[in-house]
Amino acid sequence: MFLTHLHFDHCGGGVVRNGDKLELTFPKAKYWSNSDHWKWATEPNAREKASFLKENILPMKDSGQLEFVDLHQESPFQSFDIFFASGHTDKMMIPMIKYKGRTVCFVADLLPSVGHIPLPYVMGYDTRPLLTLEEKERFLKEAADFNYVLFFEHDPINECCTVKHTDKGVRVDSVFKLSEL
Ligand SMILES: [Zn+2]
Repeated sequence: MFLTHLHFDHCGGGVVRNGDKLELTFPKAKYWSNSDHWKWATEPNAREKASFLKENILPMKDSGQLEFVDLHQESPFQSFDIFFASGHTDKMMIPMIKYKGRTVCFVADLLPSVGHIPLPYVMGYDTRPLLTLEEKERFLKEAADFNYVLFFEHDPINECCTVKHTDKGVRVDSVFKLSEL
């Protein structure tokens, strides 16, 4: 269970209520976060406090199944690398998954939808919007250079897309479903 970040809409499915107990949805899984983001989520600032729900998060630690990615080492996973971004929240992790000869990036809240691809369109939720701009620019340039597949978590219409360089900056290229890869 790889958690991009611990905002309720990105981790709430990891814990289920069973009577008055909170249990892990996947009782044999390891749950992956990182130490900086865990601290950020469990000692939240007033701005993000409403997005970090203790009932979504603390059972992971209580279960003994919580693991942290080492922030100073390569990805511990064979099948994917990790792009770290701290403009939305501290140390969000974007998995860049090797799949069918492509790199599929689960872009979480770095790029919630196709509409967020142009650089100035940054979410009001972001804690460090100017840092998001830099991180988007770096990520999108690489995505256009290497023809990455962007897989969206929040876009109700577009499941996946590729991007391309244009005179106006990086823009959407083709839109498709993951099953079409
Ligand atoms: Zn978020």
